[in-house]
Formats: sequence, structure tokens, C-alpha cells
Amino acid sequence: MVKTMNAPAATISALSTKPSLIGLTREELGAALKERGVPEKQIRMRTGQIWHWLYIRGISDFDDMLNVSKDLRALLKEHFTIQRPEIAEEQISSDGTRKWLLRFPPRGAGRPVEVETVYIPEEGRGTLCVSSQVGCSLNCSFCHTGTQRLVRNLTAEEILSQILLARDRLGDFPNKETPQGGILPSSERKVTNIVLMGMGEPLYNYDAVKNAILIATDGEGLSLSKRRVTLSTSGVVPEIARIGEETGVMLAISLHATNDELRNVLVPINKKYPLKELMEACRNYPGLSNARRITFEYVMLKGVNDSLTDARDLVKLLKGIPAKINLIPFNPWPGTDYECSDWETIETFSDFINDAGYASPIRTPRGRDILAACGQLKSESERMRKKERLALETLMIAGHGGE
Ligand code: SAH
Ligand code: SF4
Repeated sequence: MVKTMNAPAATISALSTKPSLIGLTREELGAALKERGVPEKQIRMRTGQIWHWLYIRGISDFDDMLNVSKDLRALLKEHFTIQRPEIAEEQISSDGTRKWLLRFPPRGAGRPVEVETVYIPEEGRGTLCVSSQVGCSLNCSFCHTGTQRLVRNLTAEEILSQILLARDRLGDFPNKETPQGGILPSSERKVTNIVLMGMGEPLYNYDAVKNAILIATDGEGLSLSKRRVTLSTSGVVPEIARIGEETGVMLAISLHATNDELRNVLVPINKKYPLKELMEACRNYPGLSNARRITFEYVMLKGVNDSLTDARDLVKLLKGIPAKINLIPFNPWPGTDYECSDWETIETFSDFINDAGYASPIRTPRGRDILAACGQLKSESERMRKKERLALETLMIAGHGGE
């Protein structure tokens, strides 16, 4: 494992607190330019140019916007930023998984926030796991993020910037030395798939998530195929059809249990939107077909939801829905009472589901040496920082007589 820690807090001031142009819809960007005096008849052209530089070429410095006049560049620089977040920490696992802890400055009021983003390379594709909130307001009992309170929603800028930064670090953007060429064809890019499965419940941050997805899947934006962007929800039923209609993304449901009694404990939002309503929303998901299936995530918890009866109930529950089942070995965290099912149990469960006609890949644990699971990096680094702070305080007490 390779681990890089950057200096905490001290560098925050280097991050611009000006409003960012990243994550704005064309209309919002046009309005921002107009407000700063860009003539009405130029707005469309300028918006197109800026989008091109931001999302096709991946630049993060206004001076690289070569076909934008010097005066306009100066104006943009004065009022806006296109800076990336700061990398508070970067870890590279021995299996190639990468995890970043990213620090965003406050835009307007508030404090800087930190979020995590994970990149998982696999045969023929690379998946980036993106966060949508800092913490989570829900408290699924097996999820570490659920133990952290919700700090705030991320903005569309902050959601998109996780992708931009990963593409920078993985070399997916054109080389700066060849600004007129060198755009990588999509088949050669490292980040081919996006999953909204990091921290937070994406459907509780609807507008920002929607705008970020629309820019990520726009042909003049990041040009990702809609079929390669998956949003995972714990089951916010009223927003499920809407996100499908408005963005066309693939849907994943954190199911984890096949009856309300158990699901109320594991995924408490089930008390508000019980299984019957959730399954109905799934059946009605726009564009559903055998080629566009819903992924049902099912975390394997020892002695809790991993029996053959559970597997049978799962198959019954999903009857008639074009579905994939994703069995996730539970990733334990300090303080949890849950344990991951034995490997044999997972295989038996998986075989049953396969025999019933469902593809049920077992998600192989990735990046275990860097704790690449939901919510874990942030808490880990918070703990380390606390330790560092204590060490520093001890030094100060020793050196300065307790000042
Ligand atoms: N809030 C959304 C998306 C983020 S969680 C949701 O709940 O769907 C992404 C996935 O990781 C969810 O399926 C979640 O249930 C699962 N997960 C959370 N903690 C886990 C853990 N400790 N081990 C394995 N999977 C976990
Ligand atoms: Fe939130 Fe998803 Fe974790 Fe549940 S599983 S607490 S919804 S992040």
C-alpha cells in the first residue's frame, strides 16, 4: 500500500472560496457570465467554450482556455474559480484500488468539508465510486457512514469534481503539453463507469445529483454513457421514477433483506417506504428491460440474512423484475457487531440465485488494505489526525510550558 498524507488545515487558504464554474448547467453558466457583463450575443458561444475546456480537456487553470480572450480570462479569474479540491490523502492499494480523501473549501458560508472517492480497476473497466453527501442522515445499522451525522449535501460542483480529479490522477484527460490534440478515446480511459455508492443517500440530494449526472453524461460534458452511471439508493421511493425519467441512469437498490421486519432494522428508511412500495417503484422504473436491469445489492451478514430461506425469499421477491443481484461481503468496521458471512455460505447463497436464473456476482473485496469501504477512510484519517494533534499538543506543552 502506498499512502500520501498532505498537510492538513494549513493549506486550506490556498483553495479559492470564489464560486466555481464547475457543475453549472448551461443556463446557470450563461446567467453567471451575463451577470459579469459578458454580452448577450456571446453567451452561447462562451458557454460552449468553457464547457469544452472544463469537461473535454479537463483544464483547471483559466490561462489554459486558449480560445478565450485575455480580457475575458481575466474577468473569469477575478470572479470565479475552476480549481480542483485539495487531496487531503491518497492511498493506492496493492490491488490497484485508489482512494482519495478530498477537501473542498467553503463556497460562501460554512466550513471546508472532506469526502472520499474510490477508484476500482477491473478487467476491461474502471469504476469510480462517488460520494453525494458528507455523512448521511439515514442510519443503516451495518453501515459505517450511518454512524456519522449528515454534515451537508455536496454541490453539483463537488460531485463532478470527484470525477474530474480522478481523471486527472489517472491520466484520462489530454496531456497539457499537447493542448490541441491528445484526447483519449473512451475505450482507453481508466474511468469507464461511475457509481453513486460512496457516502450519502443520493436521492436526498436530488437536484445536485441530477445536475452532476446530466453533465457527466452529456456529449459536450464528460460524455459517459448513461448505462455506465449507476445510482444506488436505500429506497427513497418518491424520487425513484423521477431520477430515471430525468437522467436515464441505471438504478441500484440497497435491498439487504427480503421482509419488512428485518429490513426495518438493517435499512430503517424501510419503515417509511416498505418493501411493497419499493418493489412497485422498481417494477415501474423507466426504461427497464432485460438489457437494462436493476441491480439489487445484498450485503452478506453472518446469521442475519444469509440462509437458504433468505435466498429463496429473495428470488420470490424479485420475480418479474429485470434484475441483477450483487452479493456484497460485509466489510467490518471498528465497533460493529455484525460479521461477514463465511465464504462457503456466500457461495451456497450465490449458487441458489444463479440456479434461479439470476446473475449474482459476489463483489470481491477490493482495497481491503486501504479500508476502501463506505465511510471508512474519513473516520480513519480523522482518528489519525486526532492522534497527530495530541502528539503535537504534547510537544507544545513540553516545549512551551503549556502555552
Ligand atoms: N446511500 C446509498 C449509497 C451509498 S452506500 C445506499 O445506501 O444505497 C453503497 C452500498 O454500500 C450500499 O448498498 C450499502 O448498503 C453498502 N454498504 C454500506 N456499508 C457497508 C459495509 N460495511 N459492508 C458492505 N457494504 C456496505
Ligand atoms: Fe446512508 Fe447508504 Fe449508509 Fe444507509 S447504507 S447509512 S443510506 S450511506
